[in-house]
Amino acid sequence: MFYHSTNDPSRRVTLKEAVLRSLPPDNGLYMPDSLPVLGSEFWHDWRDLTFQEMGCAVAGAFFGTDVPVVALRQMVEDTLTFDAPLVTLGPGDHVLELFHGPTLAFKDFGARFMARLMAWLTRKDDRELTVLVATSGDTGGAVAAAFHHVAGTRVVILYPKGKVSGLQEKQLTALGGNITALEIDGSFDDCQTLVKSAFLDQSLTESLNLTSANSINLARLVPQTFYYFHAARQLSCETKPVFVIPSGNFGNLTAGLLAMKLGLPVGHFVAATNCNDVVPEFLRTGIYAPRPSVSTISNAMDVGAPSNFVRMQALFGGSWEAMKTEVSGMAFSDEQTLSAIREVSARHSYIMDPHGAVAWLAARNWRERHPGAATITLETAHPAKFPEVAAAALTTDALTIPERLAILAHREKIAVSLGNGIPDFREWLVSSL
Ligand SMILES: *Cc1c(COP(=O)(O)O)cnc(C)c1O
Repeated sequence: MFYHSTNDPSRRVTLKEAVLRSLPPDNGLYMPDSLPVLGSEFWHDWRDLTFQEMGCAVAGAFFGTDVPVVALRQMVEDTLTFDAPLVTLGPGDHVLELFHGPTLAFKDFGARFMARLMAWLTRKDDRELTVLVATSGDTGGAVAAAFHHVAGTRVVILYPKGKVSGLQEKQLTALGGNITALEIDGSFDDCQTLVKSAFLDQSLTESLNLTSANSINLARLVPQTFYYFHAARQLSCETKPVFVIPSGNFGNLTAGLLAMKLGLPVGHFVAATNCNDVVPEFLRTGIYAPRPSVSTISNAMDVGAPSNFVRMQALFGGSWEAMKTEVSGMAFSDEQTLSAIREVSARHSYIMDPHGAVAWLAARNWRERHPGAATITLETAHPAKFPEVAAAALTTDALTIPERLAILAHREKIAVSLGNGIPDFREWLVSSL
């Protein structure tokens, strides 16, 4: 299959170029030339497949002509080494737990698959690959863990100083080896701007053999479609789920839209954000007005110019009317998020992380307006990743910290401090790598 830029459908590239280049030279985003649809042989028994078998079938629809089935199956099986269970809190109120991976965030799905696909695509190259990634919190940790000790790769992670949680920071800075963390004196948008500047610099991309691991990378999107199928089949056959997605860069929501294009029956999508509500506002008014991000307690969603928005537009042929028939948006404040965590804990003895809590509020709002609807709230991180938020919301200390997170607290942070200017960043890249 070929891929093209959202800015120029006529410039087609291979899977290898789309994945390793990550960002087309015209500053658009790569999309598949044609969207596959799963055939009747899949739908015949899709509810009986294992999670891994389901992943293989979906991945095959996208990559089957480029990657041999044996290699693809290995990538999927190595990615899906943990489950994504669906938990029911109340009537129609379902939560899809996407935090059972190594870094306790849904980004493990995308990062683990991408690392394996990149390794396969470059298996015959003799140059080291440099993975450059900006993170507002969880991306960096997931990418670092996915690439740690992967031969032939090194990873440089940019994160905004003081704007990620203590444990998130440890996930980025304590691995060492082929992983380097850059602490940027600026916002997540500044980090993203720096990464983009490197990719737009032809000589740099070539000399450093740069590739990106942000949610702009196509290889991250496909594995994120797997769990939409996995969740939907756990409901009764008659129920079309309404997926409620806590959103920042909108990669997760874009993956949901791809699942729908593959043929998955979906009732509706609800994009839930914190006060960084550029997309909910667009869905309401038709006006897209990106702006600088604002810090919130759901910090992985503090994005003022969501990078996957152009993909969402492409999937709806640029039509606002078409998009809003399938996708609604809702935004909630930090106060509302804290009271949601409190309420879910009191009513269901279930502790949500701040991102999932934003989505849970949107799901409840949807069910109130659509009685009988079944909502699936994507719980994108384990609550223990945000202990400060849980402590602010809850009086009891009901949070259990998983072992793989607890050990990080004792590790040493190692990071390089940099300002948010492009020249300094460029100089660091050239002199340090
Ligand atoms: C990254 C992240 C999000 C936002 O996902 P997008 O795909 O960027 O919209 C939501 N919740 C958590 C916990 C995250 O880490």
